[in-house]
Amino acid sequence: MAIDPSFDENREVVGDHEGHDVWGPVDEPETLGIHGTHVAVDFDICDADGACIEDCPVDVFEWVETPDHPTSERKADPANETQCIDCMLCVDVCPVDAIDVDSTRA
Ligand code: SF4
Repeated sequence: MAIDPSFDENREVVGDHEGHDVWGPVDEPETLGIHGTHVAVDFDICDADGACIEDCPVDVFEWVETPDHPTSERKADPANETQCIDCMLCVDVCPVDAIDVDSTRA
């Protein structure tokens, strides 16, 4: 299952994390939702591969610990999504299609 590219129509913002939106549902620790809007990472799909963190040329992502999540115990958080230059590298390298980037989403 890949991230829903229409998540902003199908989900609601339920919180804020380090300055970016969190789109629900969220029921910690098992269900964590989607973090970010321009650069969106589905935390419930992310398996902590780390390719996005290694490849992003402007360091948008930072690790965040997510103990007891069933997929992985850390996630690539789009902590600096406002720096994104829309190169799409992260979308291309993510092995589980957990990331969607869309500059038309504010
Ligand atoms: S699209 Fe490019 S600049 Fe934006 S978060 Fe992904 S790798 Fe980084």
